[in-house]
Amino acid sequence: MSQLPIDKLLHKVDDLREDSIQLMKGLIAINSVGPANDGPGEQEIADYLESYLRKIGFKQIQNYPSSDPRVAGGERPNLVAMLEGKDPSKTLWILTHTDIVPPGDLTKWDNDPFQPQVKEDKIYGRGSEDNHQGTVSSILMARAFIESNIQPQINIGLVMMADEETGSGFGLGHLLKHHANLFKKEDLLIIPDAGEPDAGMIEVAEKSILWIKFKTVGKQVHASTPQQGINAFRAASDLVVRLGALHDHFPARDELFSPPVSTFEPTKKEANVPNINTIPGDDVFFLDCRILPDYDLQKVMEKARQLADEVEKMYHVSVEISTVQKEQSAPPTSPAAPVVGLLTAAVREVYKVEAKAMGIGGGTVAALFRREGFPVAVWSTLDDLAHQPNEYCRIGNLLKDAKVFIHCVQNAKGI
Ligand SMILES: [Zn+2]
Repeated sequence: MSQLPIDKLLHKVDDLREDSIQLMKGLIAINSVGPANDGPGEQEIADYLESYLRKIGFKQIQNYPSSDPRVAGGERPNLVAMLEGKDPSKTLWILTHTDIVPPGDLTKWDNDPFQPQVKEDKIYGRGSEDNHQGTVSSILMARAFIESNIQPQINIGLVMMADEETGSGFGLGHLLKHHANLFKKEDLLIIPDAGEPDAGMIEVAEKSILWIKFKTVGKQVHASTPQQGINAFRAASDLVVRLGALHDHFPARDELFSPPVSTFEPTKKEANVPNINTIPGDDVFFLDCRILPDYDLQKVMEKARQLADEVEKMYHVSVEISTVQKEQSAPPTSPAAPVVGLLTAAVREVYKVEAKAMGIGGGTVAALFRREGFPVAVWSTLDDLAHQPNEYCRIGNLLKDAKVFIHCVQNAKGI
Protein backbone atom coordinates (compact mmCIF):
# COMPACT_ATOMS: atom_id res chain seq x y z
CA MET A 1 0.00 0.00 0.00
CA SER A 2 1.43 3.37 -0.94
CA GLN A 3 1.64 6.10 1.64
CA LEU A 4 -0.10 9.44 1.09
CA PRO A 5 2.40 12.26 0.40
CA ILE A 6 1.38 14.14 3.53
CA ASP A 7 1.96 11.08 5.73
CA LYS A 8 5.31 10.49 4.11
CA LEU A 9 6.32 14.10 4.82
CA LEU A 10 5.19 13.96 8.44
CA HIS A 11 7.06 10.72 9.04
CA LYS A 12 10.16 12.22 7.48
CA VAL A 13 10.05 14.99 10.08
CA ASP A 14 10.16 12.40 12.86
CA ASP A 15 13.01 10.58 11.09
CA LEU A 16 15.00 13.83 11.05
CA ARG A 17 14.66 14.42 14.80
CA GLU A 18 18.32 13.69 15.58
CA ASP A 19 19.60 15.78 12.64
CA SER A 20 17.44 18.70 13.77
CA ILE A 21 18.89 18.55 17.26
CA GLN A 22 22.38 18.61 15.74
CA LEU A 23 21.50 21.64 13.62
CA MET A 24 20.10 23.42 16.66
CA LYS A 25 23.27 22.68 18.63
CA GLY A 26 25.39 23.97 15.77
CA LEU A 27 23.49 27.25 15.71
CA ILE A 28 23.61 27.76 19.49
CA ALA A 29 27.39 27.34 19.46
CA ILE A 30 27.82 30.39 17.21
CA ASN A 31 27.73 33.83 18.79
CA SER A 32 25.57 35.94 16.45
CA VAL A 33 24.95 38.95 18.68
CA GLY A 34 24.64 42.08 16.53
CA PRO A 35 27.15 44.97 16.60
CA ALA A 36 24.71 47.34 18.34
CA ASN A 37 25.01 44.94 21.31
CA ASP A 38 28.81 44.68 20.86
CA GLY A 39 28.62 41.32 19.08
CA PRO A 40 30.37 40.04 15.95
CA GLY A 41 27.23 39.99 13.76
CA GLU A 42 25.62 37.22 11.73
CA GLN A 43 28.21 36.31 9.06
CA GLU A 44 29.45 33.14 10.75
CA ILE A 45 25.99 31.77 11.45
CA ALA A 46 24.82 32.66 7.92
CA ASP A 47 27.83 30.84 6.43
CA TYR A 48 27.02 27.83 8.58
CA LEU A 49 23.37 27.88 7.49
CA GLU A 50 24.22 28.36 3.83
CA SER A 51 26.55 25.37 3.73
CA TYR A 52 23.97 23.31 5.65
CA LEU A 53 21.25 24.25 3.16
CA ARG A 54 23.51 23.28 0.22
CA LYS A 55 24.34 20.00 1.89
CA ILE A 56 20.68 19.02 2.30
CA GLY A 57 19.95 19.80 -1.35
CA PHE A 58 18.94 23.44 -1.69
CA LYS A 59 20.03 24.76 -5.10
CA GLN A 60 18.61 28.28 -4.98
CA ILE A 61 20.23 30.28 -2.20
CA GLN A 62 20.80 33.99 -2.47
CA ASN A 63 22.39 36.41 -0.03
CA TYR A 64 21.11 40.00 0.08
CA PRO A 65 23.58 41.58 2.48
CA SER A 66 23.39 45.11 3.82
CA SER A 67 26.65 46.90 4.45
CA ASP A 68 27.65 47.71 8.00
CA PRO A 69 31.20 48.85 8.75
CA ARG A 70 30.82 47.88 12.41
CA VAL A 71 31.26 44.15 11.67
CA ALA A 72 34.30 42.28 10.33
CA GLY A 73 33.71 41.77 6.62
CA GLY A 74 31.42 44.80 6.57
CA GLU A 75 28.22 42.93 5.77
CA ARG A 76 25.04 41.80 7.52
CA PRO A 77 23.85 38.73 5.60
CA ASN A 78 20.22 38.06 4.65
CA LEU A 79 19.81 34.57 3.19
CA VAL A 80 16.91 33.61 0.96
CA ALA A 81 16.55 29.93 0.04
CA MET A 82 13.87 28.71 -2.39
CA LEU A 83 12.29 25.38 -3.29
CA GLU A 84 10.12 25.49 -6.37
CA GLY A 85 6.54 24.29 -6.03
CA LYS A 86 4.12 22.68 -8.50
CA ASP A 87 2.46 26.07 -8.70
CA PRO A 88 5.43 28.45 -8.86
CA SER A 89 3.26 31.56 -8.92
CA LYS A 90 2.85 31.61 -5.16
CA THR A 91 5.27 31.22 -2.23
CA LEU A 92 4.87 30.28 1.40
CA TRP A 93 7.56 32.31 3.17
CA ILE A 94 8.93 31.56 6.59
CA LEU A 95 11.05 34.37 7.91
CA THR A 96 13.36 33.98 10.88
CA HIS A 97 16.24 35.99 12.31
CA THR A 98 19.80 34.82 12.80
CA ASP A 99 20.89 37.40 15.38
CA ILE A 100 20.52 36.80 19.09
CA VAL A 101 20.58 38.96 22.19
CA PRO A 102 23.58 38.82 24.56
CA PRO A 103 23.40 36.18 27.32
CA GLY A 104 23.22 38.83 30.06
CA ASP A 105 24.31 37.94 33.60
CA LEU A 106 26.25 34.67 33.21
CA THR A 107 25.79 33.75 36.87
CA LYS A 108 22.08 33.30 36.14
CA TRP A 109 22.85 30.52 33.62
CA ASP A 110 23.26 26.90 34.74
CA ASN A 111 25.51 26.25 31.72
CA ASP A 112 27.54 28.19 29.18
CA PRO A 113 24.92 29.88 26.95
CA PHE A 114 26.96 28.97 23.86
CA GLN A 115 27.42 25.31 24.80
CA PRO A 116 24.13 23.61 23.96
CA GLN A 117 22.76 21.11 26.48
CA VAL A 118 20.06 18.58 25.69
CA LYS A 119 17.94 17.47 28.65
CA GLU A 120 14.88 15.35 27.93
CA ASP A 121 12.68 17.40 25.58
CA LYS A 122 14.67 20.63 25.94
CA ILE A 123 17.70 22.09 24.19
CA TYR A 124 19.30 24.86 26.25
CA GLY A 125 21.37 27.74 24.94
CA ARG A 126 21.19 31.40 23.92
CA GLY A 127 19.07 31.77 20.80
CA SER A 128 17.53 28.29 21.09
CA GLU A 129 14.00 29.65 21.25
CA ASP A 130 14.58 33.13 19.85
CA ASN A 131 14.80 32.47 16.98
CA HIS A 132 16.72 29.28 16.11
CA GLN A 133 13.63 27.16 16.79
CA GLY A 134 11.85 28.87 13.90
CA THR A 135 14.91 28.56 11.69
CA VAL A 136 15.39 24.85 12.40
CA SER A 137 11.65 24.09 12.04
CA SER A 138 11.47 25.84 8.69
CA ILE A 139 14.58 24.05 7.39
CA LEU A 140 13.25 20.74 8.71
CA MET A 141 9.98 21.31 6.84
CA ALA A 142 11.80 22.00 3.56
CA ARG A 143 14.18 19.10 4.08
CA ALA A 144 11.23 16.71 4.49
CA PHE A 145 10.08 17.67 0.98
CA ILE A 146 13.57 17.27 -0.50
CA GLU A 147 14.27 13.88 1.09
CA SER A 148 10.80 12.51 0.36
CA ASN A 149 11.15 13.52 -3.31
CA ILE A 150 7.85 15.35 -3.10
CA GLN A 151 7.49 18.66 -4.87
CA PRO A 152 5.65 21.15 -2.63
CA GLN A 153 2.27 22.45 -3.88
CA ILE A 154 3.59 26.03 -3.93
CA ASN A 155 7.09 27.48 -3.60
CA ILE A 156 8.75 27.38 -0.22
CA GLY A 157 10.82 30.45 0.63
CA LEU A 158 13.03 30.54 3.70
CA VAL A 159 14.43 33.89 4.79
CA MET A 160 17.11 34.07 7.47
CA MET A 161 17.69 37.67 8.22
CA ALA A 162 20.01 39.81 10.31
CA ASP A 163 19.37 42.53 12.85
CA GLU A 164 15.93 41.68 14.20
CA GLU A 165 16.92 42.40 17.79
CA THR A 166 18.14 45.92 17.11
CA GLY A 167 15.66 47.42 14.71
CA SER A 168 15.80 45.30 11.51
CA GLY A 169 17.32 48.13 9.47
CA PHE A 170 20.07 45.80 8.25
CA GLY A 171 17.69 42.84 7.97
CA LEU A 172 14.06 42.85 6.89
CA GLY A 173 14.10 46.64 6.57
CA HIS A 174 16.92 46.31 4.03
CA LEU A 175 15.10 43.55 2.11
CA LEU A 176 11.85 45.51 1.88
CA LYS A 177 13.67 48.66 0.83
CA HIS A 178 16.00 47.22 -1.78
CA HIS A 179 14.56 43.82 -2.76
CA ALA A 180 10.81 44.26 -2.22
CA ASN A 181 10.04 42.36 -5.44
CA LEU A 182 11.00 39.14 -3.63
CA PHE A 183 7.57 39.15 -2.00
CA LYS A 184 4.14 39.27 -3.66
CA LYS A 185 0.97 40.46 -1.97
CA GLU A 186 -0.74 37.09 -2.56
CA ASP A 187 2.18 35.16 -1.03
CA LEU A 188 1.72 33.58 2.38
CA LEU A 189 3.96 35.02 5.10
CA ILE A 190 4.67 33.38 8.44
CA ILE A 191 7.03 34.74 11.08
CA PRO A 192 7.60 32.10 13.78
CA ASP A 193 8.95 34.50 16.41
CA ALA A 194 6.19 34.68 19.04
CA GLY A 195 3.63 32.26 20.33
CA GLU A 196 2.09 30.42 23.23
CA PRO A 197 3.03 27.05 24.81
CA ASP A 198 -0.20 25.46 23.49
CA ALA A 199 0.30 26.74 19.90
CA GLY A 200 -2.99 28.60 20.23
CA MET A 201 -1.97 32.17 19.38
CA ILE A 202 -1.68 33.61 15.88
CA GLU A 203 -0.52 37.19 16.16
CA VAL A 204 -2.16 39.46 13.58
CA ALA A 205 -2.01 42.90 15.17
CA GLU A 206 0.21 45.01 17.37
CA LYS A 207 -0.32 47.98 19.59
CA SER A 208 1.49 51.26 19.02
CA ILE A 209 4.57 51.77 21.15
CA LEU A 210 5.36 55.03 22.91
CA TRP A 211 8.26 55.42 25.33
CA ILE A 212 8.28 58.75 27.15
CA LYS A 213 11.07 60.29 29.24
CA PHE A 214 10.09 62.67 32.04
CA LYS A 215 12.78 64.92 33.46
CA THR A 216 11.69 66.88 36.53
CA VAL A 217 13.91 69.75 37.64
CA GLY A 218 13.68 71.32 41.08
CA LYS A 219 16.44 72.66 43.32
CA GLN A 220 19.06 70.60 45.10
CA VAL A 221 19.84 71.50 48.73
CA HIS A 222 20.87 69.89 52.01
CA ALA A 223 18.20 67.51 53.29
CA SER A 224 18.06 69.32 56.64
CA THR A 225 16.82 72.50 54.94
CA PRO A 226 14.22 71.35 52.45
CA GLN A 227 12.42 74.69 52.60
CA GLN A 228 15.34 76.21 50.66
CA GLY A 229 15.08 73.75 47.79
CA ILE A 230 12.54 72.01 45.57
CA ASN A 231 12.37 68.25 45.81
CA ALA A 232 12.22 66.97 42.23
CA PHE A 233 11.72 63.38 43.41
CA ARG A 234 8.54 64.22 45.31
CA ALA A 235 7.08 66.11 42.36
CA ALA A 236 8.03 63.29 39.96
CA SER A 237 6.44 60.76 42.27
CA ASP A 238 3.18 62.68 42.16
CA LEU A 239 3.46 62.82 38.38
CA VAL A 240 3.97 59.05 38.15
CA VAL A 241 0.73 58.53 40.03
CA ARG A 242 -1.17 61.15 38.01
CA LEU A 243 -0.10 59.50 34.76
CA GLY A 244 -2.32 56.59 35.76
CA ALA A 245 -5.16 58.82 34.54
CA LEU A 246 -4.05 58.08 30.97
CA HIS A 247 -6.00 54.84 31.30
CA ASP A 248 -9.20 56.89 31.78
CA HIS A 249 -8.45 59.25 28.92
CA PHE A 250 -7.76 56.40 26.47
CA PRO A 251 -10.20 53.74 27.67
CA ALA A 252 -11.04 51.84 24.46
CA ARG A 253 -11.17 48.04 24.54
CA ASP A 254 -10.38 45.67 21.70
CA GLU A 255 -10.78 41.99 22.54
CA LEU A 256 -8.34 41.04 19.75
CA PHE A 257 -5.60 42.12 22.15
CA SER A 258 -4.41 40.69 25.42
CA PRO A 259 -4.70 42.74 27.57
CA PRO A 260 -7.62 44.30 25.63
CA VAL A 261 -6.75 47.87 26.71
CA SER A 262 -3.95 50.38 26.24
CA THR A 263 -1.26 50.18 28.93
CA PHE A 264 0.77 53.03 30.47
CA GLU A 265 3.49 51.67 32.74
CA PRO A 266 6.19 53.60 34.61
CA THR A 267 9.34 51.50 34.18
CA LYS A 268 12.90 52.74 34.29
CA LYS A 269 13.94 55.18 37.01
CA GLU A 270 17.31 56.91 36.83
CA ALA A 271 19.31 57.33 40.00
CA ASN A 272 19.11 60.82 41.44
CA VAL A 273 21.42 61.87 44.29
CA PRO A 274 23.98 59.31 45.51
CA ASN A 275 23.57 60.16 49.19
CA ILE A 276 20.67 60.21 51.61
CA ASN A 277 21.13 63.71 53.01
CA THR A 278 20.62 65.66 49.79
CA ILE A 279 17.31 66.83 48.36
CA PRO A 280 17.34 65.75 44.73
CA GLY A 281 17.17 68.63 42.27
CA ASP A 282 16.69 66.36 39.24
CA ASP A 283 14.60 63.30 38.64
CA VAL A 284 14.22 61.16 35.53
CA PHE A 285 11.77 58.35 34.90
CA PHE A 286 10.26 56.64 31.89
CA LEU A 287 6.81 55.48 30.83
CA ASP A 288 6.29 52.48 28.53
CA CYS A 289 2.96 52.83 26.71
CA ARG A 290 1.35 50.16 24.50
CA ILE A 291 -1.57 51.82 22.86
CA LEU A 292 -4.45 50.43 20.81
CA PRO A 293 -3.94 51.13 17.09
CA ASP A 294 -6.83 53.60 16.70
CA TYR A 295 -5.42 56.18 19.10
CA ASP A 296 -3.22 58.98 17.80
CA LEU A 297 0.03 58.98 19.80
CA GLN A 298 0.20 62.76 19.59
CA LYS A 299 -2.99 62.95 21.68
CA VAL A 300 -1.34 60.79 24.34
CA MET A 301 1.67 63.11 24.40
CA GLU A 302 -0.63 66.12 24.78
CA LYS A 303 -2.45 64.54 27.72
CA ALA A 304 0.87 63.64 29.39
CA ARG A 305 1.95 67.25 28.95
CA GLN A 306 -1.24 68.47 30.60
CA LEU A 307 -0.64 66.24 33.63
CA ALA A 308 2.96 67.48 33.82
CA ASP A 309 1.71 71.08 33.70
CA GLU A 310 -0.44 70.41 36.78
CA VAL A 311 2.59 69.07 38.64
CA GLU A 312 4.76 72.03 37.55
CA LYS A 313 2.21 74.43 39.01
CA MET A 314 1.76 72.57 42.24
CA TYR A 315 5.46 71.98 43.07
CA HIS A 316 7.17 74.86 41.22
CA VAL A 317 9.31 72.40 39.26
CA SER A 318 9.78 72.19 35.52
CA VAL A 319 9.05 68.95 33.70
CA GLU A 320 10.63 68.20 30.32
CA ILE A 321 8.95 65.51 28.28
CA SER A 322 10.60 63.74 25.36
CA THR A 323 9.88 60.60 23.33
CA VAL A 324 12.46 57.82 23.31
CA GLN A 325 10.48 55.67 20.91
CA LYS A 326 7.29 56.44 19.04
CA GLU A 327 5.92 53.81 16.71
CA GLN A 328 2.37 54.19 15.44
CA SER A 329 1.19 50.61 14.92
CA ALA A 330 0.86 49.08 11.49
CA PRO A 331 -2.60 48.24 10.18
CA PRO A 332 -3.54 44.77 11.48
CA THR A 333 -3.58 41.66 9.31
CA SER A 334 -7.19 40.60 8.90
CA PRO A 335 -8.07 37.51 10.97
CA ALA A 336 -9.77 36.41 7.72
CA ALA A 337 -6.50 36.52 5.70
CA PRO A 338 -5.68 33.23 3.89
CA VAL A 339 -2.47 32.68 5.86
CA VAL A 340 -4.40 32.83 9.15
CA GLY A 341 -6.95 30.30 7.91
CA LEU A 342 -4.21 27.95 6.70
CA LEU A 343 -2.37 28.13 10.01
CA THR A 344 -5.55 27.63 12.03
CA ALA A 345 -6.37 24.45 10.09
CA ALA A 346 -2.79 23.16 10.33
CA VAL A 347 -2.56 23.83 14.08
CA ARG A 348 -5.86 22.01 14.57
CA GLU A 349 -4.47 19.03 12.63
CA VAL A 350 -1.10 18.83 14.42
CA TYR A 351 -1.72 20.20 17.93
CA LYS A 352 -5.50 19.51 18.22
CA VAL A 353 -5.88 23.11 19.33
CA GLU A 354 -8.22 25.82 18.09
CA ALA A 355 -5.82 28.73 17.51
CA LYS A 356 -7.03 32.31 17.93
CA ALA A 357 -6.01 35.36 15.94
CA MET A 358 -4.79 37.94 18.45
CA GLY A 359 -3.04 41.25 18.95
CA ILE A 360 0.03 41.72 21.15
CA GLY A 361 1.88 44.58 22.77
CA GLY A 362 4.02 45.32 19.76
CA GLY A 363 7.53 45.07 18.49
CA THR A 364 7.77 42.21 15.95
CA VAL A 365 9.15 42.59 12.43
CA ALA A 366 5.68 41.76 11.10
CA ALA A 367 4.91 45.47 11.41
CA LEU A 368 7.35 46.20 8.58
CA PHE A 369 5.40 43.94 6.23
CA ARG A 370 2.02 45.18 7.42
CA ARG A 371 2.99 48.78 6.75
CA GLU A 372 3.66 47.76 3.13
CA GLY A 373 0.26 46.08 2.90
CA PHE A 374 1.35 42.44 3.23
CA PRO A 375 -0.83 40.18 5.39
CA VAL A 376 1.45 38.30 7.78
CA ALA A 377 0.89 35.88 10.63
CA VAL A 378 3.28 35.57 13.56
CA TRP A 379 3.00 32.09 14.97
CA SER A 380 5.03 29.40 16.68
CA THR A 381 4.87 27.23 19.77
CA LEU A 382 6.99 28.64 22.58
CA ASP A 383 7.32 28.54 26.33
CA ASP A 384 8.36 32.19 26.01
CA LEU A 385 11.95 32.03 27.21
CA ALA A 386 13.17 34.69 24.81
CA HIS A 387 15.99 36.89 26.21
CA GLN A 388 15.99 35.01 29.54
CA PRO A 389 18.81 33.06 31.18
CA ASN A 390 18.58 29.27 30.64
CA GLU A 391 16.70 29.85 27.40
CA TYR A 392 15.58 26.58 25.83
CA CYS A 393 13.48 25.24 23.00
CA ARG A 394 11.37 22.11 23.16
CA ILE A 395 12.28 19.40 20.66
CA GLY A 396 8.61 18.42 20.48
CA ASN A 397 7.65 21.95 19.40
CA LEU A 398 10.48 22.03 16.89
CA LEU A 399 9.11 18.94 15.12
CA LYS A 400 5.43 19.78 15.44
CA ASP A 401 5.89 23.33 14.16
CA ALA A 402 7.64 21.85 11.09
CA LYS A 403 4.60 19.62 10.58
CA VAL A 404 2.29 22.64 10.80
CA PHE A 405 4.35 24.33 8.06
CA ILE A 406 4.08 21.19 5.90
CA HIS A 407 0.29 21.23 6.20
CA CYS A 408 0.28 24.94 5.28
CA VAL A 409 2.33 24.31 2.12
CA GLN A 410 0.27 21.33 1.00
CA ASN A 411 -3.09 23.03 1.63
CA ALA A 412 -2.08 26.33 0.05
CA LYS A 413 -2.96 25.37 -3.51
CA GLY A 414 -5.66 27.56 -4.94
CA ILE A 415 -6.33 29.69 -1.88
ZN1 LIG B 1 13.02 36.93 17.98
